[in-house]
Amino acid sequence: MNDKSSIKNRQSKIKRLVALGGGESGVGTAILAKKKDFKVFVSDSGTIIKKYREVLLHNDILFEEEKHTESNIFDADVVMKSPGISDKVKLVQDLLKKGISVISEIEFAAQFTDATIVGVTGSNGKTTTALLTHHILKNAELSVGVAGNVGDSFAWQVAENDYKNYVLELSSFQLDGIVDFAPYIAIITNISPDHLDRYEYKYENYINSKFRITMNQTASDYLIYDADDEAIINWLKNNNTNATLLPFSLKRTLDKGASIKDNNIIITTDSNNTFTMSITTLALQGNHNIKNAMASALVAKLLGIRDETLRESLEDFESVEHRLEPVFKINGVQYINDSKATNVNATFYALESMNNPTVWIVGGTDKGNDYTDLLPLVREKVKAIICLGLDNTKIIETFGNVVDFICETAGAEEAVKVAYKVSEKGDTVLLSPACASFDLFENYEDRGRQFKEAVRLL
Ligand code: ADP
Repeated sequence: MNDKSSIKNRQSKIKRLVALGGGESGVGTAILAKKKDFKVFVSDSGTIIKKYREVLLHNDILFEEEKHTESNIFDADVVMKSPGISDKVKLVQDLLKKGISVISEIEFAAQFTDATIVGVTGSNGKTTTALLTHHILKNAELSVGVAGNVGDSFAWQVAENDYKNYVLELSSFQLDGIVDFAPYIAIITNISPDHLDRYEYKYENYINSKFRITMNQTASDYLIYDADDEAIINWLKNNNTNATLLPFSLKRTLDKGASIKDNNIIITTDSNNTFTMSITTLALQGNHNIKNAMASALVAKLLGIRDETLRESLEDFESVEHRLEPVFKINGVQYINDSKATNVNATFYALESMNNPTVWIVGGTDKGNDYTDLLPLVREKVKAIICLGLDNTKIIETFGNVVDFICETAGAEEAVKVAYKVSEKGDTVLLSPACASFDLFENYEDRGRQFKEAVRLL
């Protein structure tokens, strides 16, 4: 996307950085750039929230809101684009035409730290795996920061902390804006279609974007990946990476990497070093979380963390909000908030991990979903479906004949009340929408919180 040598040349004399977007990554980048003696300007086409505006004012950083003034942007030596802004918008296209490098916060910040970087990407499980890895590294008393969708931005932390290690959750949008960025350890949790609107509706573009995480890695770096994932395996068959490969699998025994034997996770990073642990003692249950634990454990072994610390950390990690988060048990019915399941694949794993008859709350803004993969699980586990979206046609068409009860609701409170009525002792009520939340809620956090509040009020 960008020509590496031209960026290097520019950076030797760069003094002007423009951050497009005044959110967490834009403001973090602005702070780091200021500290590194860049002239900095932040431009946001929307409003900048109070917290960030105050930070910019406090740090004497120039900014504008609700507009992009081209004359203030086109003389930039480097532009940091927040991941929310598509490459396709005219301003970005015009910048690229003028030969101005447009990079992500991750690319910008990485050049100012020598820390060991663990980068986590994938369609699902990024946050869980990043937080679990961070938890293990912290318990091992390593100096470690976690950034990405969680906590303060990477750039901000590089500016203000001096961590020796970072665990970075990397979306494909962040990876689209890298040039030289190379993590010591990269993880690709899995790949399934998502965000295709940003990739010309071509799945292969999205897959290629995820694999940018490994493009600058060398043979002394590692790529940890799901060897059961078709898209990942196909890419590796047809493309090259210099990184040392460490696969994990629930289905196959692997000499190197992570696999399952007799209900134990077996982690082997080199032939003299094997770590074994029973899957029943893992804090996070469900097949998807076994995979997340395998990926994190491989990182821990590569970083030389003691087996005891690794074991304890995998046992005492607390579940992450909105990801199969147990809410309350009421009259023997367990309520679970999986609002972050915004695609079919995440919901697949949620349903797969259900052990009791399930009342399933599903729906929202459909991203071109194909629900057929869920049919066997729904037949086996789901007793009732409560739709929670403005347009539920597809869900009703797919599952209407499969369950005894299906209905439509238009709010969390209503959905929870119906769930309460149709459930009985021993059941589970699962909010796992398989859809984005924007039709009825601000975002998935808002959806999850409203669900939990409604359960609390029962
Ligand atoms: P991300 O940061 O990639 O969106 P999260 O850890 O926030 O991933 O989880 C998003 C959703 O996907 C949640 O519903 C969670 O239960 C589910 N999930 C977590 N790990 C995996 C995985 N390895 N495979 C599939 N789904 C997963």
